[in-house]
Amino acid sequence: MMRIKDFLEYVSLLPEDCIEVKTAQEIQFHLPRKESVECPVCGSSYVSIDSYYPQRLRGLPASAGTYIYKRRRYRCKDCGKTFAEPNPFIGSHQRTLGNRLRQIRAQKKITQGKVVEACGVPLYLYRKYEDDAEIPSLVVAMKIADYLDTDVMEIWGDQLN
Ligand SMILES: [Zn+2]
Repeated sequence: MMRIKDFLEYVSLLPEDCIEVKTAQEIQFHLPRKESVECPVCGSSYVSIDSYYPQRLRGLPASAGTYIYKRRRYRCKDCGKTFAEPNPFIGSHQRTLGNRLRQIRAQKKITQGKVVEACGVPLYLYRKYEDDAEIPSLVVAMKIADYLDTDVMEIWGDQLN
């Protein structure tokens, strides 16, 4: 998974023809087409583009605007299966970009429920920290970092600058 900063840079470096819409609030993009693509099911390279699925990417701070990823789907002409193209920023069934808070919490095998209980944060609010990359107030951030036995910069360092 990529950090948010790296993702934003990655999209900004895509060739111009990959950017379908670009306004102050929204970017729609697709990835450059690959020379050869192999079917993950049967290994055939006899594949064609089937469709583009727009996915609104989650996990970005509101200040970054909305990013719609037009994910290409291929159809294998040998076995008939369809499959999504690989990309470097989200897993095949994900819509949420890398979130340090979620990663660190998961590594320590601590549930969201335990964090909100220990830190006195409502669950709906805590979920915004993981799903929408909202940054808590410093007091709350320190409580969470402390509970996860890490420090604020380790979790939010790349988003605070
Ligand atoms: Zn196939």
